[in-house]
Amino acid sequence: MPNPPRLAVDVRGIDLNPALKELVAKVGANDPTIRGIRVGQFGPGVVRLVVDLKQMVAPQVFTLAPVAAYQHRLVFDLYPTQVADPLETLIAERLQEAPTAPVPSPLAVDPLGELIAQKARPPSLTAGTGTSPSGTSSSIATSSISTGARGQKEQKKLLPQSMSVPAPAATDRLIIIALDAGHGGEDPGAIGPGGTREKDVVLRLAHRMRERINASNVNGNAMRAFLTRDADFFVPLHIRVAKARRVQADLFISLHADAFFTPHPQGASVFALSQGGASSSAARWMADKENKADQVGGLNIKARDMQVKRALLDMSTTAQIRDSLQLGSAMLGEIQRVGKLHKPRVEQASFAVLKAPDIPSVLVEAAFISNPAEEAKLNSDAYQDQLADALMRGIERYFSKNPPLARSRSM
Ligand SMILES: [Zn+2]
Repeated sequence: MPNPPRLAVDVRGIDLNPALKELVAKVGANDPTIRGIRVGQFGPGVVRLVVDLKQMVAPQVFTLAPVAAYQHRLVFDLYPTQVADPLETLIAERLQEAPTAPVPSPLAVDPLGELIAQKARPPSLTAGTGTSPSGTSSSIATSSISTGARGQKEQKKLLPQSMSVPAPAATDRLIIIALDAGHGGEDPGAIGPGGTREKDVVLRLAHRMRERINASNVNGNAMRAFLTRDADFFVPLHIRVAKARRVQADLFISLHADAFFTPHPQGASVFALSQGGASSSAARWMADKENKADQVGGLNIKARDMQVKRALLDMSTTAQIRDSLQLGSAMLGEIQRVGKLHKPRVEQASFAVLKAPDIPSVLVEAAFISNPAEEAKLNSDAYQDQLADALMRGIERYFSKNPPLARSRSM
């Protein structure tokens, strides 16, 4: 309803309860879309929910079946009507890739970090959607509310990340490694018998890898890590991919910990994307499990699929998969020296997070969090260090055989 913009919803068959009343207090003052929420018992068995808005939206409503710790959920996605078209965003990114690369400011404290920041500046902020003072890292700025308890939505600035390593001398080519710590926020991932949460151990591993990457180079070309999330918040799978593409990452590495119903399975696995079916039923099962993250976070799966399909339009993934298999094998070879392998070869399945058509992408299941011995290892600083070292050596081995090509991202 316009004047003033608001969304009014009558939910039938329920009475006002504490969970609904708590919604009112969950709106942040800096929410880009929602001004406030009112709830009331409108009539017998009818609750009226009024969402006061800062701008007009095209709302979508859908339900989610129980998953993980969540019960039945009713979800409203509020898409600003002035949002940039995802395909146009992609094209704009390509245009920015034109041979005349912008010259970094000589005043930049960290020229490499500055360059990443330039690449990462979300185009949507200039498209009239950004009323949020903190900005939003998503090219489709949405607000989402649900009647279930939601964790932190991502409200962090994409950049600057903490860049603690001093900038090396000028380089020809900056190598960017996207590190994708799985799960986060309301999606804890797998939980070990001792209570260890996958989202926590993989974030610690990502931070360790960031230190190593930021201190490394390939043939004199500096490397920088780019984290799709650097704290405990929910990021939809396609946004993880979009972020990596926005900074034109050279590699995409998604970090996870495996789980099974019995405590015995152990060892690491590495997955690449498959163009058709999965390489094994176990691989398909794993992809289904990891792809569920969006349901846990409360994402409209239909909308997501559409966006992914559009992004993949006319793009071949054959070369991506070939490179990803090489990266995965190099990593498995190194992990083997510090721990056990669950599968000796890179497996393939349709992981949503591996679908950047132009970035070699692997998903690493570092160990079985459901195995008490491996849960303890995942928690230990010593093993985390060994694992980060091994993955780093895998990256270096990959680049020694596949030297990064020159790009316009020169300085
Ligand atoms: Zn996972």
